[in-house]
Amino acid sequence: GIRLEDELVHIQQFLAAAEIDYMLEGNPKLTNTSLITENVLSMCIKEAVTNVVKHSGAKSCSILIEPSRTDLVIKVKDDGTGIPGNDLYFKGHGLQGMRERLEFVNGCMDIVRNGGTTIVIKVPNAFH
Ligand code: ATP
Ligand code: MG
Repeated sequence: GIRLEDELVHIQQFLAAAEIDYMLEGNPKLTNTSLITENVLSMCIKEAVTNVVKHSGAKSCSILIEPSRTDLVIKVKDDGTGIPGNDLYFKGHGLQGMRERLEFVNGCMDIVRNGGTTIVIKVPNAFH
């Protein structure tokens, strides 16, 4: 499995190659998360960022890591075109696959349209 910290190195390179500004907020060294959950998180963030590059036309992409006592919230935010009305879950398998993998580790996902797109991923902590 791949550590989030290592996945973010690839993501930084990927966004740089696409000429999209990248910002990271929060600590990617996870301490409260099981390995399987961290693996799912890495896959989900990779897919979300691939979508930013493929579909959004964004100038910038931020990844926000927000731990709390009971869970971990990760947001992948872009300032692109936004997801068009009826396209959610129909055109491809990426978003659907993220949702299914997150359910497998008792996590969930929200898609927020705020001009661009913010994918909000939430997983429970391993211990609390
Ligand atoms: P796949 O992931 O299977 O290769 P895909 O990327 O088209 O194909 P999804 O990842 O499920 O499929 O995304 C569904 C659709 O939502 C996309 O086709 C695109 O229209 C839209 N979309 C997803 N993410 C974004 C984004 N960040 N900005 C704009 N549109 C998006
Ligand atoms: Mg996709």
